[in-house]
Amino acid sequence: MFRPLMIAAALIAATPVLAEEVTVYSARIEQLIKPLFEAFTKDTGIKVKYITDKEGPLMERLKAEGSSTPADLLLTVDAGNLWQASQLGLLKPAKSSVLEANIPAHLRDPKGEWFGLSVRARTMFYNSEKLKPAQLSSYEDLADPKWKGKLCLRSAKKVYNQSLVATLIARHGEAKTEQIVKGWVANLATDPFADDTMMLKAIAAGQCEVGIANTYYFGRLIEKEPKLPLALFWANQASSGVHVNVSGAGITRHAKNEKAALKLLEWLSAESAQKRYADENMEYPVNPKVSADPIVAGWGGFKQDPVNVAKAGELQAAAVKLMDRAAYR
Ligand code: FE
Repeated sequence: MFRPLMIAAALIAATPVLAEEVTVYSARIEQLIKPLFEAFTKDTGIKVKYITDKEGPLMERLKAEGSSTPADLLLTVDAGNLWQASQLGLLKPAKSSVLEANIPAHLRDPKGEWFGLSVRARTMFYNSEKLKPAQLSSYEDLADPKWKGKLCLRSAKKVYNQSLVATLIARHGEAKTEQIVKGWVANLATDPFADDTMMLKAIAAGQCEVGIANTYYFGRLIEKEPKLPLALFWANQASSGVHVNVSGAGITRHAKNEKAALKLLEWLSAESAQKRYADENMEYPVNPKVSADPIVAGWGGFKQDPVNVAKAGELQAAAVKLMDRAAYR
């Protein structure tokens, strides 16, 4: 008589509760995201599946998979890339008072398709044996002939420089920006470098005196080689502010777990996660309530360019063409 009941009870016990989950396509490396995703699962019970790759292949994959994609969230660096994903129709807008409260308006998409999660500052670095900070001022000033043979730059192919030039176009228009970029090219000490770290090493070695890089590359390098004669200068403090960009994420157009994806986004923008997310890569928290890692904070406070980072995407094509015209390779 109670046998069927026993079977029913056993069946119920054997049926697993369908755990909520979210799948992330991430251009941020596993080492940076895994600890955060694990903490999110611990906090919320929502499982996180992810794959990591470069942003190009991830976006191609999203496009090819279309509505059958398992991805709910695309996580990548640079507003130029996020804007691109939005342009390709790979993202869908989210409305969230939590995200709006945690992330300043200029660091997220006005349409709500992507949200900045950390701030990356691209500023000036100089050889401290050759220059005094008082000699430096702005990105624009690096076009002045007084810097002839003293400037180092990373390749124009890198989206970071395309975004920087895009924001110069937003501020000055194309004609003036082209003059600035031509001035940079005329001042180069040597061919543009393949990455920021090589460029910073060239400054420290005295091959050139000043250049432009993201602060976390400086942080990593100086941690390993603290004696390098290399120093940070906050650009454009008397004018437009330091060029900033973001790493960030957006919910995919065909997300199956949209609610869980939004929860993860909100969780990443909150104070506890922000601290870890930014500190892992020596970046700045996007949430103004959170302070930077002590080493990062030690570089001092700075005024940010308040232009919406979406401009970096909108004007990316114009920036690429302009740099080509200016023979910046
Ligand atoms: Fe980088």
